[in-house]
Amino acid sequence: MIEARLWKPLEDGRVHCRVCSHFCVIESGNRGLCGVRLNRDGTLYTLVYDRVASLGLDPVEKKPLYHYKPGTSTLSFATQGCNFSCTFCQNASLSQPPREGADPMGDPVTPEALVQAAKREGAQSISYTYSEPTIFFELMQDTARLAHQEGLGNIMVSNGFQSPECLKELDGLIDAANIDLKAFSENFYRDIVGAKLKPVLRNLKTIKKMGWWLEVTTLLIPGKNDDPDELRELAKFIANELGTDTPWHLSRFHPQHRMRDVAMTSVSSLETAVRFGREAGLEYIYIGNVPGHDYTKTHCPACGELVLDRAGFGLSFSALANGCCAACGRKISGVDLG
Ligand code: SF4
Repeated sequence: MIEARLWKPLEDGRVHCRVCSHFCVIESGNRGLCGVRLNRDGTLYTLVYDRVASLGLDPVEKKPLYHYKPGTSTLSFATQGCNFSCTFCQNASLSQPPREGADPMGDPVTPEALVQAAKREGAQSISYTYSEPTIFFELMQDTARLAHQEGLGNIMVSNGFQSPECLKELDGLIDAANIDLKAFSENFYRDIVGAKLKPVLRNLKTIKKMGWWLEVTTLLIPGKNDDPDELRELAKFIANELGTDTPWHLSRFHPQHRMRDVAMTSVSSLETAVRFGREAGLEYIYIGNVPGHDYTKTHCPACGELVLDRAGFGLSFSALANGCCAACGRKISGVDLG
């Protein structure tokens, strides 16, 4: 247990955590909403700095990031805990136990050991992923700093609910992010996620301004966030505020956690959302969790030529020359595309 960062003491032994946009005020002896930050006698501590609960070597395409160093591996890890309580969580055994009062579980780890493991395994980056990396901010920050010193990239896969201070601290350390835009409705964020939409929209714009490579994911849940007008507005937000070259991943929902009574997303509903994205002007739209679907491929926005193809979670084909379409020379947006 080490002292947390980004907090302030208040009167009566309470503390104000400033890591995410919940801005919890925590009484002595209590934890914040995420369940991994503890106020002990007026000082805030993180319970997960040295406790990794999930660790693996993934293709970067699995994050999903389709336009950042395609075909490379990324060392991926998470601690337990999350600042959201999504009823549809696809990873609840990792994210929710600390929120329900359990002590965070995991194996001992250090930033040095994570960076060494990434190098040993031939990864080109480290991904802060699986649960919500904001809640293990200190471990992410220290690992990212070391990773850069060793020539590795840093990827944050997140719900985008950081505080402005937290994002500022990460500026210059994170190279690429996939951020969930779970819906375009405050009601959805309040009732189903236990958070707010507005800070996520603000952070998406900030991330784009900071120059991180950004891709956006929406898990499409039947009857919950697939209203056509809402999806059109969401797609317009990405196109107008983040840029038409921002990749949008539309992911298929599978019944999970407390949302087992809702059917799996139909392929036709995902394809309808793709159409809304196209109408908004988005150039790179992908369908996730539907293996073999044509919308797992990247086509050149200018001439339509297939430039990147994927099989499973990995890259299977590339027809790029210096990041440009080999057929017409149009630049394909992204980082180190080959
Ligand atoms: S990280 Fe967010 S949820 Fe956790 S204690 Fe801090 S403000 Fe609360």
